[in-house]
Amino acid sequence: MKGSIFIVSAPSGAGKTTLCRRLTEAVPRILHSISYTTRQARDGEVDGRDYFFVDEARFMSMVGAGEFLEWAEVHGNLYGTSRAKLFEMIQGGIDVILDIDTQGAAQIRQKGIDVTFIFILPPSPETLKERLIARKTDSEQVILGRLKKVREEISDYRLYDYVIINNSLDVALNELGSVVLSRRLHMSRVDHEWIKETFGLEAAESKF
Ligand code: 5GP
Repeated sequence: MKGSIFIVSAPSGAGKTTLCRRLTEAVPRILHSISYTTRQARDGEVDGRDYFFVDEARFMSMVGAGEFLEWAEVHGNLYGTSRAKLFEMIQGGIDVILDIDTQGAAQIRQKGIDVTFIFILPPSPETLKERLIARKTDSEQVILGRLKKVREEISDYRLYDYVIINNSLDVALNELGSVVLSRRLHMSRVDHEWIKETFGLEAAESKF
């Protein structure tokens, strides 16, 4: 059985990165897709673990070669999802979570790929601001830019399949895990051959 793709989008500061990391630690057989970006690595970020950090020339040559399933400019930097790496994981039966912005999600939606779309909201705009300041990873100017974009980023939430409000990390993690698990149990993911063989179901007995 091939793996499923989950797209998680949220305005920055909604806790999406932490949630996705905790999810891959808590749930087996799901991995985080590592994007390519032209953004500078933040303190503590590791190349090949958090992102593949590349310069703009390399990024644009990958765009030219059609290596990205989707790519977008977000907050002045380029970000993209490698097509080959993603499909390799899916073919290997691994579920993959893509932490990408709403532009990238829209590109994938237009391609008609079977994906579960999840949107994470902070409990309030104030919490978002507090979280961005508290994480101390961005300058005041960058934070102001990110906050300005919040309304725009949130306006697309209706295009998603699920909405999770990240008030408490543990509750939100549980909810995110439930979405992943319910997707795994969905009829479209059931191994019908296995059921047929195990229970000796004849083709004639099956109505499908
Ligand atoms: P950050 O710089 O804070 O890590 O990420 C900024 C934004 O870029 C986040 O909204 C994140 O979801 C988005 N992002 C990260 N990787 C990708 C990607 O591969 N494609 C797109 N479209 N957005 C991405």
